[in-house]
This record gives sequence, C-alpha cells and structure tokens, in this order.
Amino acid sequence: MKFYSLKSANEIEKLKIQETNVLELQKTAIDKKLKVIIDDLLLLAEHVKIAGESGADYQYDAQELENLENEFLAFGIGKKRYYDQLRYLDENGRELVRINFTGDTVKTVERSELQDKSARYYFKDLVKLETDEIYISPFDLNVEHEQVELPYKPMLRIGTPLRDKDNKFKGALIINYLGEDILSTFDIYSPQSIGHNMLLNSRGFWLRNSYEPEAEWSFMFDSIHPVSFKDVFANDEASVFNQEKGQLISSKGILTFQTIYPIPKDDDYSVAMNEGARNIKVAPDEGRYWKLVSFLENAQIRAILKPLQNERNMFILVIVAVAMVFSLVVSKIRLNEIDARNNLRELNSKLEEKVASRTEKYLEAKLKAEENDKLKTAFLANMSHEIRTPMSGIMGFANLLKQPGLTGEQQEKYIDLINRSGNRMLSLISDIIDISRIESGNVKLVVSPGNLNELLDECFNFFMPEAEAKNVDLKLTKALTDKYAIIKTDHEKLEGVVMNLIKNAIKYTDAGIIEFGYHLTEDEAELIFFVKDTGIGIPENRKAAIFERFVQADIEDKMAREGAGLGLSIAKGFVKILEGKIWVESKEGEGSIFYFTIPYKHVNVTPKLPEDAISIEYKFNKKLKILIADDDDVSCQLLTNSVSDFASQVVSVNTGSEAVKACKANPDLDLVLMDIRMPGTNGYHATKKIREFNKNVVIIAQTAFAFTGDKKRSIVAGCNDYIPKPLNKEEIEQIILKYFLD
Ligand code: ADP
Repeated sequence: MKFYSLKSANEIEKLKIQETNVLELQKTAIDKKLKVIIDDLLLLAEHVKIAGESGADYQYDAQELENLENEFLAFGIGKKRYYDQLRYLDENGRELVRINFTGDTVKTVERSELQDKSARYYFKDLVKLETDEIYISPFDLNVEHEQVELPYKPMLRIGTPLRDKDNKFKGALIINYLGEDILSTFDIYSPQSIGHNMLLNSRGFWLRNSYEPEAEWSFMFDSIHPVSFKDVFANDEASVFNQEKGQLISSKGILTFQTIYPIPKDDDYSVAMNEGARNIKVAPDEGRYWKLVSFLENAQIRAILKPLQNERNMFILVIVAVAMVFSLVVSKIRLNEIDARNNLRELNSKLEEKVASRTEKYLEAKLKAEENDKLKTAFLANMSHEIRTPMSGIMGFANLLKQPGLTGEQQEKYIDLINRSGNRMLSLISDIIDISRIESGNVKLVVSPGNLNELLDECFNFFMPEAEAKNVDLKLTKALTDKYAIIKTDHEKLEGVVMNLIKNAIKYTDAGIIEFGYHLTEDEAELIFFVKDTGIGIPENRKAAIFERFVQADIEDKMAREGAGLGLSIAKGFVKILEGKIWVESKEGEGSIFYFTIPYKHVNVTPKLPEDAISIEYKFNKKLKILIADDDDVSCQLLTNSVSDFASQVVSVNTGSEAVKACKANPDLDLVLMDIRMPGTNGYHATKKIREFNKNVVIIAQTAFAFTGDKKRSIVAGCNDYIPKPLNKEEIEQIILKYFLD
C-alpha cells in the first residue's frame, strides 16, 4: 500500500516540477520579448536623445522631424508584428511623431492628425521619471473614445523620458506594444501546463485565465466587479504575491507561481545593454510585474492519479478479491458452521418434535392404556355383572327346581329361564372368545360357496319370534335371486355380523320396523348389507365409539341394554376380515341404519340338468302363461315358436311399458321373456316396475349385449336369469326346466 502512495507522491512531485518548468519557460520567453522591446525603446531613445543633445532649448524642425519619422519607420517595419504605435511626445505631451502599425502596413500619421496626449496617464507618469528610467504601463485593453476596443486589443505601453543635459524634460518616447505578443508567447507554453495556466497583473487581475476565462480582463469594465486572485484564492494570495516564485499546496490544489519583471532585476541586463552606463529601472511608483500561475486543482490531481488509483484499486481489488475469497471460505466455513448449527438446531427441533410427538404418542398411548385399563376394569366389572346375572339366574332357578311340589309348568318355566341364562352365558363366552381371537389375529377365515339368501332367511326366521314379541315388524329384502346369491365368503362370520346387527336393532327398537337385506353395488363388486331400525338411534358423538371394544361399558350408556358392548366390535373385526367395512347412519330418536360391505364373489353353479331330455319332456307337464316382450317382430315370432311346447298362452308386446301393463293385466303370468333393448322403457326399467307389484313371476332377460355386466344388471333389476341373443330353442327349454321343473 505504501508503495502505491509513494508512487502517487512521486507523480505529484513530477507534476509540481512540470508546472514549475512550464512557468519558467513562459517567464523566460516573455522576458525575452520584453527585453527586445525595451532594447528597441532604448535604442530609439538614444536616437532621439542624440538629436536633442544639441541644446537645452533645441526644437526639432520639420526636416528633423521627418528624418526622425523615417528612422522610426525603418525601425518599426521589422517590428510591425507586435508594435502598434511608436510615438515621440514633446515636453508638453503633444505627439511629434507617430507611426501606426496596422496589420501588415506601417504608416506615418499626418502631422495634422497628431494629438495632444498631455492628459493621458502614461504621459503624466513619464514626466515624473528620471533619465534611463523605463515606464511600463498597466497591461490592459486598448480604449478608444472611452470604450474598450473590440476585438480586444491587449496593450502595453513602454516608454522612457527624454531629458537634456540639464535633465530638463524634453518629452518621451513611447512604444505601444501589442500585448498579444506576450500573451501568445504565454499561450505557446501554456498547453504544457497540466494545471490551469494563468497570467495576472500585479494587482491580482487576470490577463489570461484558463481556470475562469470570464475573469480575464474583468478589471477593464466598470460594470463588472473585477474578480481578483484574492477572491478565488484568498488563503494563498499573499504567498503567491509576496514571493517571487514558488509552489504551494493549498486546500484547492497545487499553486505554482512565478513573477515576470519587465526589467530584469539583476544588473546583467544593464551591463549587457550599455556597459554599466545605463541604470535602467522600472518606474518605482508602478512596481509593475506580472504573475505566472499554474493552478493544479485537486480534481485534476485526482484525475491524473486515477490510473494509479486504478492500478492501486486493481491492487486493492486483488487484495479485496483475495480477501473476499478468504472471507468466502471463512464465511463458507462459518456458513457450514451455521449450517451445521442450524442443522443441529433443526435436528434438535426435529428431535424435540419427535420427542414431543413421541411424548404425545406416549401420552396418547398412556392415556389409551389408562383408558384401556379403565375400560378393561369397567369391562371386567361389566363382565362380572354380565356373567353373574345369567349365572345367578342359572343357579337361582336350578335351586328353585330343587324345591319340592313344583308344578310341571313351573318347572318348565324355571328350566326355560336356566336355558336362557345359559344361552346368554354361552353368547358372552363366545363373544369373549371371538374378541380375543380378533385381538390376537387368530381368526381363521373359512371361505366356502353359500347361498346368501338362505343365510338371511335363516336370520329372518331366527329373529322373527323376538321381533314379534316386541311388536316390531321384521322385513328382509334380497336383491339377488338365489342363483346369483351364491357367493364365496365365510358364511359363519357373515351370519355373525348380520345377527349381531339384527339383535341390536331389536334390542334398541321398541316399535316400528326392522328391515334388513342387501343390494349389489353399481359396479357389482360389492354387496352392501343393511340393518335398518326405527329405534332409539345413536348420538352423533358416539357413532364411532360404539365400534370400539368394551365401549358400552365405558360409556355411561343409559340406553345400553343387556350386553357387554362387544357385539359391534366383533362385527367390525369380522367385517374387516371379510374385506369389507362397516358404518352407521343414525339419528337420535329416529332410528339407525347399520351398513357393511363384503366383496361380491359370485359362484356360478350350473344347475344339474336331467340326463335325458325326453324323460324331462315326459316329466314336464306344466303349461305356462308366457309374456314375450321384444320390439323385433321376427324375434317375437321365433320366441313364440320356441316356447310353444311349454305354453298354455303366449302374450306378446313390443315395448317395456306394454310389458309392465301386460303383467298388471295378467297377474297369473308364469314367465316373462324380457328383451333388454326396447324403445322407451327398456327391459331393466320394465323389470323393476314389474317387481314392484309382482315378485313371483319368473323374468328372464334376453339381450343382444353379451356383456357380463348386462347379466348382473338384469339380475339387480329383478330378473331371475339371463339368456343371450340370438336365442335357440335348447337354451329356452333349459331355462324353463331350471325354473319350472318340480
Ligand atoms: P351391546 O352388547 O351393548 O349391544 P354392542 O357392541 O353391540 O354392545 O353395541 C355397542 C353400543 O352401541 C350399545 O351399547 C348401544 O349403545 C349402541 N347400539 C348398537 N346398536 C344400536 C342400535 N341398533 N340402535 C341404537 N344403539 C345401538
């Protein structure tokens, strides 16, 4: 870093030297110019003086003046580039000779045009001067008729008094020197200055100012408040103006300054000019000099140092980059640390979560265990009650039976009570065994084909007396004909579930109707069983709980009636084993519908046909009343022919609604051959409607759609069977034998 600062310092040092050098060059060049002019002036003054040395009161005559004019002219032609006027004024300030240099021409002004200049400041000043003293006017702009001449004509008047032997003022010689010559000399070197190059007069006003060009010559105009060096560089003005040359670092930048004296201060000049004979000096009251200044403002320095700065910046950048990489690595490590910490925190929180959830689960489990404990305790208490009740019944009635002199009726009554209590005990024991098996997962599934309708019929018959005793109607709805009701399942468990539900329905229903049955789902994948009652119903908040084991005991179930609260949990366990689900829909006070499903695994059992068809014909002597429903006349005719052997009467219709009407009109119909595809009411709908008023007529669906789904759908609709189209006589005979052979 120090290296780069040093480099900057060196660069600044270079700048300072550069500026000093530029000012030195300008000073030297301008000095030379001035020297030439002063030399010219002094040379001319020699001429004039010589001419005037003739006597104190010597007056130039016309010829002499003409000679003087020619002399001046000859002299002036070579200097025309920078001379404006060359004049000889008499002791009264009148112009005796005047040469004008206008552009490339040098012209002697007519005598008649010569003016009196006695009032002009330069004349007044010149009068005061001693012999060999040189007057230098202010460096300003030419004024004509009290107006600054445009374009600006910077002017410097350089003069010297003319005195005779008696030191009497005999007039003055004045050269109007075009300041442009000095300024252009200044300008030649100015570009070498890096700073703002300035030329100021001794009063601190600008003649040249690249820093603030508008400040140039401002002192010439009364209307403008002249801006001086002091105004701009207040702190530095004294240093610059009190010292001949130097350099200072101000708050604004670097100021380099140099002074131009029109007459060099050293004696070399006079020596060189006139072997010590002349004492040339600037008029003391004037003290004129000019200041060359270079102002290198801070912004410029910065701009100059910027590449370095950039270099430095590059260096810094590299350092920063390295630092960044380092910090990245560090931060990466930090991040990793933070990551690790976060991970740890995350892990911790996860752990905490886990712990919390475990705790929650543990608490849940604990609660559940406690609950289970409570339930089990309650269960045991309930069990003891449940067991004790039938036990005490058995023992009590058994003791009563011992009593002598009991009537036969009394004995029968007691034995019946003992039986009932025994059954209750048995049921309880079997429930306990079931639930323990379900709990331990030791329930064996015994799957076999069986008739669902038969199973339900048995349930119906079993509960019918109980329902009747309670004055509750019992109704069974079977959706499938026996053929399609043959399913593969564990019938014992299925029966257990159904019986449990019916038992409960009766238990919790005091009046109304209990309907049970099943139907096939749309997709024929499942059988949905239902047990519907008009009983007390189940409150919403207990619907889930009732399927939990031991619940009845736990719930302060005022509605609970005799039971251990095991029935539904066993049912749920069994249904699950049978690959179904169980649920309840219930409204308190209105009743409940318990549902459960099992897969519909129909077993197609082909009816065993008699070995000999002839013997069948022999045996089959019934004549049937048959309805043929078919929109196609040809099919109708064909069917009529096919059934003619078995028919006493054949009724034909072409639409579904006609079929329904025909069925109503002929309640004694034995068989309906129902076409499924018919306009308007199709075969399914017609069948459903017929089934509403006639459940006994055998309806055989016949359809061209040989889809297995049609078969099931027609069965669901209420058809007993299905035969695919086109029908053949054999198939029709087989189906008639199936349904009507005794
Ligand atoms: P319980 O042996 O007590 O009947 P369950 O498991 O079969 O035990 O039934 C649990 C509880 O469910 C019963 O105690 C009863 O409160 C309620 N419940 C079951 N079936 C019905 C129903 N059909 N109507 C009203 N409540 C019922």
